[in-house]
Amino acid sequence: MDWREGSERVQPQSATDVSRASVRWKPKKSLWMGSMTAATLILGPLTLSWSAFAVFLLLTIPTLLAGHSVGLHRKLIHNSFDCPDWLENVFVYLGTLVGMDGPVGMMRQHDVRDWAQRVPGCHQYVRHGAPILQDYCWQVHCDVTFEHPPHFEEEPRVRNNRFIQFLEQTWMLQQLPIALVLFWLGGLPFVVWGVCARVTVGVTGHWLVGHLAHNEGPMRWRIIGAGVQGRDVPLAGLLSMGEGWHSNHHAYPSSAKLGLDRDQPDPGWWFLKVLEAVGLVSNLQTPETLPQRDALVRVSEKSGGCPAMRKLLVDEGA
Ligand SMILES: [Zn+2]
Ligand SMILES: [Zn+2]
Repeated sequence: MDWREGSERVQPQSATDVSRASVRWKPKKSLWMGSMTAATLILGPLTLSWSAFAVFLLLTIPTLLAGHSVGLHRKLIHNSFDCPDWLENVFVYLGTLVGMDGPVGMMRQHDVRDWAQRVPGCHQYVRHGAPILQDYCWQVHCDVTFEHPPHFEEEPRVRNNRFIQFLEQTWMLQQLPIALVLFWLGGLPFVVWGVCARVTVGVTGHWLVGHLAHNEGPMRWRIIGAGVQGRDVPLAGLLSMGEGWHSNHHAYPSSAKLGLDRDQPDPGWWFLKVLEAVGLVSNLQTPETLPQRDALVRVSEKSGGCPAMRKLLVDEGA
């Protein structure tokens, strides 16, 4: 694979060198996440009730599933299926509510990281190579600046979508209407669990899965010549809505299906199959529909997988 080719949105310049970069504190991002985390740690235990926890689940599951995994990652970033524009906008709105960044910011981070990870010797930041606490501080509170960054530009479909650009400008403020409705419905406990705890768990969980998925864990594919290999995070496969099957994602980035084997539960894929059955999405990409990659090697079919699913399959004699 020739990494100098870049990708659809990321184009290296002649001086681009992904090993030379500095990591700096990013005040806006850090204060945002710091205050969400502090509110969760201090007020979370004081305001916990069954109804507050139900609010947390009712808002966390759809925003992670339809928003982050299916909307932002599988649709906006990878365009791995077709759907009407209005539905994509709903997905992207729900993904913005996760509170990580604006949709274009998410796309930039994802694409530059994915592109840089192909390059042997890429900077520790982009390959999650620092020790775990340092990596947490870097990824959640800082930003990386390359000495000679590659050029990033979103495609016209995204650049000209005024709703997406509006969300990009206002992504933090998007929590405000939710917080006001929650306060009206259930006071401070609903706001703490429906906004602060939800954002903290979503952002921290995303970082943790990302850290593990580039450092340890089983892998079923190896990409010859890549700077970083993707690994699976079996315990997070279900909770991350399928995003934990990251070895598959490095193997087939444009596949709408992330859990490729029977022991890899993938709620995002199940959700897409339901939407396909009712006619809302189509043209779902899978490894079978995508071009074969010469650099891709199947490593192992036995290690990893969801422990509960593996037990079920063994009991069934599969
Ligand atoms: Zn990766
Ligand atoms: Zn991706």
